[in-house]
Amino acid sequence: LTILGLESSCDDTAAAVVRQTEGEPAQVLSSIVHGQTELHSAYGGVVPEIAARAHAEKLDICVRQALEEAGLELADLDAIAVTAGPGLIGGVMSGVMCAKGLSAATGLPLIGVNHLAGHALTPRLTDAIAYPYLMLLVSGGHCQYLIVHGPEQFTRLGGTIDDAPGEAFDKTARLLGLPQPGGPSVEAEAREGDPDRFRFPRPLLDRPDCNLSFSGLKTALMRMRDQIVAEKGGLTRQDRADLCAGFQQAIVETLAEKTRRALSRYMEENPPEPVVAVAGGVAANTAIRSALESVCAEQGAKFTAPPHSLCTDNAAMIAYAGLERFRTGARDGLDLTARPRWPLDKSSPALLGSGK
Ligand code: ATP
Ligand code: FE
Repeated sequence: LTILGLESSCDDTAAAVVRQTEGEPAQVLSSIVHGQTELHSAYGGVVPEIAARAHAEKLDICVRQALEEAGLELADLDAIAVTAGPGLIGGVMSGVMCAKGLSAATGLPLIGVNHLAGHALTPRLTDAIAYPYLMLLVSGGHCQYLIVHGPEQFTRLGGTIDDAPGEAFDKTARLLGLPQPGGPSVEAEAREGDPDRFRFPRPLLDRPDCNLSFSGLKTALMRMRDQIVAEKGGLTRQDRADLCAGFQQAIVETLAEKTRRALSRYMEENPPEPVVAVAGGVAANTAIRSALESVCAEQGAKFTAPPHSLCTDNAAMIAYAGLERFRTGARDGLDLTARPRWPLDKSSPALLGSGK
């Protein structure tokens, strides 16, 4: 099967071609990503209207490049998969309309994909792991523990009750005057800093569940920053690095401890070969990856994480999730709707297109 995937739910316009012969590992034949960071940099965050217009301008270029790089034509494809939500609705609509146009013109089947399912299935694309596995999905807008039983079967064990870690990284960068997206810039600063100089809170660690909370980190950071500024008139390079290191350490430790708990819950189901996978943009963080790897080693589970380029938004994950849905016989019609919200544990083909 050869599937073209389209992604436009946030600030990356992407197209990719993924191929899989039954029983063999899937191959990414091409993966084109046009980021929009510079378009939004003056505003300190993604501006939905600007994002939607940029997606509408770039989608056809991405599709052409993805096909060219794969050495294929539209006629060589079996289906077109597209992110149908959740995300910024203008962007999602641009992608869905583009995919519908391609489907109507070529007669190729259309497959709507949940963006979060795309992130959550990526470890199967990169490491061919079997169902079920425990997934920590940690991105710009989401943070949750899922047991992944199939392409559309997810059990949610817990997640953030407020901000997502990616959001916290981005806000931290903004508060410290570092460039967006915040994750990579805060991580780079943290490498130069002392994680023990500032003590950030570890919220909800006193509770036995798998829920997390990250909004208090930003308040703590703001207070620490303001205190340094009040005392010394400004932040030095080292102050900034130490703040980043302390902040990142709090996230690392919280995720490690909650992963330990999620893993014990998942082990209760006696999986034949316990596997823990991490995906989403924040999974690109080296400190987070190595902390999770240690938790898994300690508990006798295999750990897997996609390469950085497939952790942040891309269309290969959408093509792959589309391929898995296609295999189950799922098809969407031209009435497929773009959905701003679409929780994973309620995902089912029957809900697709209902707009609910
Ligand atoms: P969602 O998938 O929840 O809809 P999104 O698509 O915007 O949100 P992703 O592209 O998956 O999110 O991830 C982007 C987020 O990942 C940003 O918040 C960014 O700061 C964060 N991120 C990227 N690299 C790193 C890193 N090295 N360390 C920490 N965070 C990172
Ligand atoms: Fe994403």
